[in-house]
Amino acid sequence: MKARILIVEDERHIGTLLKYNCEGEGYEAELVGDGPAAIAFMERDPFPFDLVILDLMLPGMSGYMVLEKLRRANVHIPVLILSARTLSEDRTRGFDAGADQYMTKPFELPELLSRVRGLLARHAQVRGTAPPAPPPTGEVFEFDGAVINFTRHEVTVRNEPKVLTPLELRLLRCFIEHEGVVLTRNELLNQVWGFDSNPTTRTVDNFVARLRQHFEVDPSRPRHFLSVRGVGYRFLLNPAPAAHEEESEVDSDPAAK
Ligand code: CA
Repeated sequence: MKARILIVEDERHIGTLLKYNCEGEGYEAELVGDGPAAIAFMERDPFPFDLVILDLMLPGMSGYMVLEKLRRANVHIPVLILSARTLSEDRTRGFDAGADQYMTKPFELPELLSRVRGLLARHAQVRGTAPPAPPPTGEVFEFDGAVINFTRHEVTVRNEPKVLTPLELRLLRCFIEHEGVVLTRNELLNQVWGFDSNPTTRTVDNFVARLRQHFEVDPSRPRHFLSVRGVGYRFLLNPAPAAHEEESEVDSDPAAK
């Protein structure tokens, strides 16, 4: 079945260019020019698209608002923000709202299409509809009172439901799949974000801090999501009882603050 892409873009020539090229790649593409038109598709269940390319500055309703509404409605398909806004605050706000990737205008079409391919492939794997890449973890994974259902996008930690963004879940999955292995920030960027250009290593620190907030009993004294000084991070499934007291390993990294 063809992947279906929703393009939300009020600049007609960009929207038409995107639609034409998405169709050229073999996708079905629908172009709408404002937020309310995108939101209207949420009345259909399931949401009739596999990926959204989303502009931020739109008439009627900002792209951030569209994204927040999608995520609140439990639509967890990949969202690629394509915006003229280049400030890091905009990126951060976009990722906080649940974006998977952020590209700035002007953009290179081949790069955008490559990102779309990557996002669709990874999403298909998460949903279990693609044959490759056997996941070492089952669909449901448990540790330290946390229960994570990757397929249904449901997380509870010590019986408390948590809402994780798609990127947080992907980072968590990456840690679980490399349990006990030290991963550098750049390795995490490549594996989770998929491309080396947009997010910075600082982004990794912020996301690790968020995982600690979600899962650690005491986020300031992490036992599972450990910093390895000068290198990166390591996830431990069953830390030794006093693992957090190994000060040589758990350093005063920015993500712990
Ligand atoms: Ca616009």
